[in-house]
Amino acid sequence: MEEKNLSQRQKELTELLNNYAYHYYVLEKPIVADYDYDVLYDELLELEKTTGIILSDSPTQRVGGEVLKGFKKVEHPVKLYSLNKCNDTSGIEKFVEDVKKVVKDPKFVVEYKFDGLRIIAKYKNGELVQASTRGNGVVGEDVTAQVKTIKSVPLKIDFKGELMVAGEGVITLQNLEKYNKTAEEKLKNARNAVAGAIRNLDPKVTAKRNLDVVFYDIISIDDASVVTSQEEVYNFLKTNKFLTGKLFEVCSTAKEIESVAQRVDKVKSKLDILIDGLVIKLNSVKDRDELGFTAKFPKWAIAYKFAPQELTSVLRQVEWNVGRTGKVTPIAHIDPIELAGATVSRATLNNYDDILRKKVKLNSLVFVRRSNEVIPEILGVAQDNENSITIQKPTHCPCCNQPLEEVGPNVFCTNELCPDKVVSKLSHFATRNCMNIDGLSDKIIKTLYDNCGVKNFSDLYKITKEDLTGLEGFKDKKINNLLTSIQNSKTPNLNNFIDALGIDGVGEKTAKDLAKKFSCLQNIKTATLDDLIAIQDVGEVIAQNIYNYFNSSSNLEEIDKLSSLGVTPLETQQKTFDTSNLLYGKKVVLTGTLENYKRNEATAIIENFGGEVVSSVSKNTNLVLAGSDAGSKLTKAQTLGIKVITEQEFEQIINS
Ligand code: NAD
Repeated sequence: MEEKNLSQRQKELTELLNNYAYHYYVLEKPIVADYDYDVLYDELLELEKTTGIILSDSPTQRVGGEVLKGFKKVEHPVKLYSLNKCNDTSGIEKFVEDVKKVVKDPKFVVEYKFDGLRIIAKYKNGELVQASTRGNGVVGEDVTAQVKTIKSVPLKIDFKGELMVAGEGVITLQNLEKYNKTAEEKLKNARNAVAGAIRNLDPKVTAKRNLDVVFYDIISIDDASVVTSQEEVYNFLKTNKFLTGKLFEVCSTAKEIESVAQRVDKVKSKLDILIDGLVIKLNSVKDRDELGFTAKFPKWAIAYKFAPQELTSVLRQVEWNVGRTGKVTPIAHIDPIELAGATVSRATLNNYDDILRKKVKLNSLVFVRRSNEVIPEILGVAQDNENSITIQKPTHCPCCNQPLEEVGPNVFCTNELCPDKVVSKLSHFATRNCMNIDGLSDKIIKTLYDNCGVKNFSDLYKITKEDLTGLEGFKDKKINNLLTSIQNSKTPNLNNFIDALGIDGVGEKTAKDLAKKFSCLQNIKTATLDDLIAIQDVGEVIAQNIYNYFNSSSNLEEIDKLSSLGVTPLETQQKTFDTSNLLYGKKVVLTGTLENYKRNEATAIIENFGGEVVSSVSKNTNLVLAGSDAGSKLTKAQTLGIKVITEQEFEQIINS
């Protein structure tokens, strides 16, 4: 590129990035994903190197954003720097090499990089006297009243000297979800949720969102000899009852740091607090002094950012799908993007209310998030444009065209013969957790529906070789395999059979509870409403659904047909348990990563000992089995005084 063009691009980038930063820091409504911002930022940095010119308003020279009007300003005693960053292991290696040029045998500390809002808290005589945001690094906003509402921030500490500590304001994903369930305007992501709650003139708003501050640094302390390393900082913070990060690893080499990064990369999507990378810091404060700072960063620390889990893309189309209960749900079709190791072209939107709350429109740029193992989700709109079109709520079934019925935030097709609904029911019936009919994919079910008149569960067991011969894609081997799988599915466990029937509101757990309580299908069929309500965890609505299901003549007829075709669910054996075993009769919560067991394996073992696995920690929980990197559930269990066992202790219990 010519020099003129270079400086033109440099000007463009500076303007663009400043505009993005304004939306991000001041309005707290980003219009591009962080990754997109970072790519443009790196391009500007390169250009500045090439041209040797740095414009006076370049974002590469500034830390953070502007200070909002309405807040009292707080001048920081020292400049609060940002962090230099890298995106790959070669960046870590270069950082370690650079440090080694100045410091002999350095030790590093690796911590989570929390994705929130930096908070500085000042204590005097053991009392919290001021809290502020980082602002532009020199001047921040006084958010004392707001931060005082955050329960995990200690208002009093044992240390009585003058102290300034830094931490990150965060919201657990659980609290964010809870908030979004009832909030009129959904919060797009955890970072925005935190920034919006703290940089808000009404402290009640902060209190309502249930934030935390995770502390990681001491900015100043009157007796500096107390903390001569990051390890001492960490211990000091813990001793004074500050909430600290769960990851704190001391490493000596780039290889060791990389192996921590690999480990965290695998479990990061399970953490309850959003992290966007790791921060690697030189441990010794004396060594840090030798390295010093650039205009923007300390030279003794670096942020290692993970591949993005959130990007933007254009929403092209919303497809409405009919599920087995008739619920019609939207699926977003977006321009394909590479996100967290996969090409993403479809993402969930929960229902029409969700579309309204997220303000997404066709042709708009939207934020898409995907964390490992989780279905990609549209978080909200990034930018509208002149082609943006409001999405219409469907009034008629996209499959059978019958008028839809509204129930709460959802719309339903009530036509029991709606082809999509029937096919979805059959698909559910065939799944692994239900009748486990191997090879009976959704596509094949659709073919059977269209060509062989398969509409009811029992129709599957009437299919013959002749029916399948000649269908597209059906060769002899495939036909035989399918017929064998159908035959093999005839003796399911009772709970799997009940799950397969697709009774409204009856999933895996309730199906298990029913099988355990009634042992055989006949007993369930004749159960009274009171019998059903008496089951723990079965509420009145679900009990009524079950009762209605087994008192409908068409359903009973269908069950009889299945029976005459040889489908006989196995009776559930009432097990005798060793009542002296510690797991017997206990409600157990699993959290963190177990080394030797998958979740379902641990669940099966606990159930075999007469225990029950429940999903969230409450005062009714008896035991928590905590693997590595356990998050908020462990903290909650500790707060409630619930017994926590390690994987080793679990093994001792089951082997005893
Ligand atoms: P940063 O967020 O990349 O990293 C520095 C910050 O990390 C620190 O200030 C601190 O708050 C935080 N942190 C978390 N855990 C920490 C720990 N254990 N130890 C130390 N610090 C820890 O840098 P920044 O200057 O705050 O923000 C710049 C970034 O903001 C950009 O890289 C970009 O991703 C994002 N941004 C996005 C937009 C947008 O439009 N999307 C605009 C501007 C900036």
